[in-house]
Amino acid sequence: MADSPPVLYIVGGGLSGISAAEVLSRGEGRPRKVVLLEARPRLGGRTSSYRESHDGQVHDTGQHLFMDAYVATRSLLKVLGTESRLTFLDPLSLYMMDRKEKLSFLELPLHNGQLGLLSGILMFPGLSFLSRLSMLKIARALPERESSVDHMDARTFLRNNGQTAEAIDKFWELLIVSATNLPSDQVSASLLVSVLRESLFSAGGPKTLGYNTVPLSELIGDPAMKLLTRRGVDIRCRTPVSRFLVHQNRLTGMQIGKDTRMLGPDDHVIVTVPPWSFEELFPSTEMNNPMIQNIVRLSKPSPILSVHLWFQEPVAVPMMTGFSEHDMHWVFNRDYMMGRALPAILPDKKLADFSYSGPLGDFYPGRMLSCVVSGARESLEEDDDELIEKARKTVLRLSPGSPDKKLVFARVIRERFATPIFSPGQGMWRPLAHSFLDNLWIAGDMQDTGLPATMEGAVRAGFQAAFEVEKRLERRLREDRKYQPGRGEPS
Ligand SMILES: Cc1cc2nc3c(=O)[nH]c(=O)nc-3n(C[C@H](O)[C@H](O)[C@H](O)COP(=O)(O)OP(=O)(O)OC[C@H]3O[C@@H](n4cnc5c(N)ncnc54)[C@H](O)[C@@H]3O)c2cc1C
Repeated sequence: MADSPPVLYIVGGGLSGISAAEVLSRGEGRPRKVVLLEARPRLGGRTSSYRESHDGQVHDTGQHLFMDAYVATRSLLKVLGTESRLTFLDPLSLYMMDRKEKLSFLELPLHNGQLGLLSGILMFPGLSFLSRLSMLKIARALPERESSVDHMDARTFLRNNGQTAEAIDKFWELLIVSATNLPSDQVSASLLVSVLRESLFSAGGPKTLGYNTVPLSELIGDPAMKLLTRRGVDIRCRTPVSRFLVHQNRLTGMQIGKDTRMLGPDDHVIVTVPPWSFEELFPSTEMNNPMIQNIVRLSKPSPILSVHLWFQEPVAVPMMTGFSEHDMHWVFNRDYMMGRALPAILPDKKLADFSYSGPLGDFYPGRMLSCVVSGARESLEEDDDELIEKARKTVLRLSPGSPDKKLVFARVIRERFATPIFSPGQGMWRPLAHSFLDNLWIAGDMQDTGLPATMEGAVRAGFQAAFEVEKRLERRLREDRKYQPGRGEPS
C-alpha cells in the first residue's frame, strides 16, 4: 500500500451512508481514515424529523414502518443503541376501512407461526370467504427467483395467481402501495414477491410490523452522529460533493464546493445518493456509460404525502388504520404511537373519557394524528386546504361520534423525492455495489438488493458496499505482504 493510509469516503449521510460508515469504522486503530460527506446540516437523509412551530415538538416528516424482518436495520440500531425504541406489533393488528366505510379488524397472531397467519386471514371479516381462501393460496404461487416475475406488474401477478378482484382492491393494493410506494399496476411483481418472502411468508415464520417510538432523528441520525464521531469518523455536514473527477477506470478526485480533493491510489469512495442526485456527480464525458444511463432511468421519484393534524380535544381512533379504495391510505395515531401525554385534556375529563374498547378492539385518544398517501403523484398537486379537509374527514370517518372535533392546526408535508420507482422490467437497471470505476462503490436504496426502496434496502446496500471495500483493502494488503522486500519474488 502507499505510505499514507487509505482514505475511505462516503458520499451521503442517509441510512445507507451511516451503515457503510459503521462498518468501515469498526475496530480501533486500523490504518485508515473514514470521511462522511453529507449535503444537509444533519445525518439521516430521508429518515428525517423537524421541530414543529405549532407545538414546539419534534415530529417525523413522514411515518416510517419497520418490519420484524429488517435484520440489517435492527442490527444497525442495536449498535446505535436505539433498537429498543422500536415497538413491534404482537399480534399484528390493524384496522382496515373500505370504500363503504365498513371498518374491519385484522389480527394476525404471528407468534403462532404460519398457523397464526392462516387463522388470522381466515377470520378477517373485511373480505368474503372466497377472497380469504384465495389469499391463502398466494404462498404457493411465490416463484423461487423473484427476478423471474420482474417483467410483470404486481396486480397481474396477483390476478394470474387466483386472487379475487375483491382481495386485490381491498387488501393487496394497500399492502403493495405501502410497501413499495407505487400502485400495484405500476410496480414490479418481483418486489411484491420479495416483500412477502421477507414478511408474511418468510422461511423462518411470518414477521410482524413495527414503528419508532421516538422521532426518526433520535432513532437514527443523531445517535449515528455520536457513534461515528466517537469512532473517529470525519463527518462533514453541509458539504455537498458537486462533481467526481474520472480518469480511465478510476475516480481521481472530487469537487467539494470550491475545493478539489484528489484521491490517493488506495482511497475509495462509496456513493449513497439517490438516483436523482447521481447523474450530476459525473462529468459529461461519462454520460454514455451504461451504468449511469441505467441509474438515470431509475431517477423518477414516487412521492409520499403526509398531513399532520392537531385537534383541540383528543379524538378516539385506532393506532393505525388502513383505507382501501380511498385517496388517503393510512391514519396514524401519532400521540399514542409516541407514548405522548395528552396535555389538552380538560380538567373535568379523564383520559378514559376519550378511549373506548369497541366491539372490534381498542381506540385510543390522540390529538396529533397523521394521514399518509403513498405513491401520491396526484394528491401532490392538490392545494393544502383541500388536502387538510380530506384528511380531517378521513379521521372523522373513523370517529363518527365526534363530528364537531375542532382542528386547531395542520401541516401538509409533500415529499416529492420519497423513493425511486422500480417498474416492471427495471430490476436489471438497479446497480450492484461494484461500479464501472475501480475505486467507486454504489449503495443507497436503489442498489439491487431485491427489496423495494426501503430503510432495510438502504442499510443492506450500505453494508454490502462497505464489505466490498474491506475485501478490496484486504486483498491489497495481502498483495503488499507478498511483494515485500526480503520475501523473495512471487513464484
Ligand atoms: C415519507 C417517507 C416515508 C417512508 N416510509 C418508509 C417506511 O415506512 N418503511 C421503509 O422501509 N422505508 C420508508 N421510506 C423509504 C426510506 O426512508 C428510504 O428508502 C431510505 O431512508 C433511503 O436511505 P438512503 O441512505 O438510501 O438515501 P437518503 O436517505 O436519501 O440519503 C442520501 C443522502 O445523500 C445526501 N446527498 C445527496 N446528494 C449529495 C451530494 N452531492 N453530496 C453529499 N451528500 C449528498 C442527501 O442529503 C441524503 O442525506 C420512506 C421514505 C419517505 C420519504
